Amino acid sequence: MSTDNRSFKKLRISLTDTCNMACTYCVPDGDAGGIRAQLKPRLEVSEMIDLLAKLHKELGLKKVRITGGEPLLFPGIVKLVAEIKHLGIDDIAITTNAFYLSNLAPRLKEAGLKSINVSLDALDTEVFKAITRKDMLQQCLLGIDEAIKQGIKLKINSVIIKGVNENQILPLIAFGIQKQVKVRFLELMKMGYLHNNYLQHFVSQNEIIEIIKGAYVIEKQLRVPSATANYWKLEEEDYAFGIIANESEPFCKDCDRLRLDSYGKIYGCISATKGIDIKGKHDLKPLLTEAIQQKQRFKFIGNQMSMQFIGG
Ligand code: SAM
Repeated sequence: MSTDNRSFKKLRISLTDTCNMACTYCVPDGDAGGIRAQLKPRLEVSEMIDLLAKLHKELGLKKVRITGGEPLLFPGIVKLVAEIKHLGIDDIAITTNAFYLSNLAPRLKEAGLKSINVSLDALDTEVFKAITRKDMLQQCLLGIDEAIKQGIKLKINSVIIKGVNENQILPLIAFGIQKQVKVRFLELMKMGYLHNNYLQHFVSQNEIIEIIKGAYVIEKQLRVPSATANYWKLEEEDYAFGIIANESEPFCKDCDRLRLDSYGKIYGCISATKGIDIKGKHDLKPLLTEAIQQKQRFKFIGNQMSMQFIGG
């Protein structure tokens, strides 16, 4: 499916909008992430697979990333991974906060999961609590260890928030070196309830780089086409960290991602506010054309919807 030389090759599914954490930049209060959102997924595994099979037939998907909300809360998560593998899609990834990973990593691996992005914004218990509103750090660290033990490829993603966790940047790099996992720092995106006042919490790519330069000599690497992150190599270590700089260095121009939410709606862009319903539709072609027209050419323009719904 291609318009304006754009095409969808990667799919992100937001399996559920429920989360067991309530990160301050994602939801306005401690309850909004979890209890008020429904635990029951909108689509059953079979419906989800049906939609996926149709999308794969149209698009020849190269990669599926499962996210949310917290995707490991979805009761059929292991089955879903196995079914995606059966569709012939090998590159299956999950984005998770890792809380349930110590339990689920072996079964996810067996089902065919290839890689995991763990969202971890702090290694200090109090900073972690201040951001997530939950005392869950130790369990998340156990989850990370289990996934590494299972041989699942793992990366850490950390959103940096002004005055909150800049002091976690260097510990996170040290953690990445110690565990031999890539750490990527994320610029805060103008989404959800922070849409109009995100700048007061925003830390730029340059500010992150300056902090790292205080401890390491670094060299920027060439960007891989359609990649979200820029990477820098540390001179004194065989290690590279990344920055996903939505604002400072937008990567819209070659983005090939399509999103599917837990209600069966697709979004051609993370800036799109209107989902396109594909549930029960036989011909997806015109709907995918509509979705590709939602793509931004140059820059993320923001979204009033929280990442919890559209899938981070
Ligand atoms: N619960 C899972 C997790 O924690 O990874 C998946 C969903 S979560 C919404 C996905 C990612 O979106 C997390 O890394 C989170 O930090 C990030 N995120 C949420 N809101 C964001 C924002 N406004 N700007 C940048 N990243 C954001």
